[in-house]
Amino acid sequence: MLRHAKQDVRMCRKPVGTSIGYVCPQHEGRCVVCDLQFNEILPTMREVRLCDDCGLVAEGEEHCIMCGRPSTTEVAYYCQYCTALENDRDGCPRVMNPTKQQRLALLKAVRN
Ligand SMILES: [Zn+2]
Ligand SMILES: [Zn+2]
Ligand SMILES: [Zn+2]
Repeated sequence: MLRHAKQDVRMCRKPVGTSIGYVCPQHEGRCVVCDLQFNEILPTMREVRLCDDCGLVAEGEEHCIMCGRPSTTEVAYYCQYCTALENDRDGCPRVMNPTKQQRLALLKAVRN
């Protein structure tokens, strides 16, 4: 079975609104979908929009959409290839891997 490196990453995928997605210094300059590194923002690239749930944060409190780190520096982008493939229309790309709290809650729910 083929196993893509990013298969474990679960994205939100809800319909996007008008909020812009941001990334931390570790994730800036990388496509949010395919991880392609880029040195400059091309006109054919598209900036990331989030769904209303993920985008609803106070200004200055944006978290990195890739890792959840609370120090963001750059607007998140889809690379020119993902934009051409319309990967930006697949919905909100925020990574939704469960936090420790969510995993614990899930464990509890299974036990009860
Ligand atoms: Zn890409
Ligand atoms: Zn979302
Ligand atoms: Zn990050």
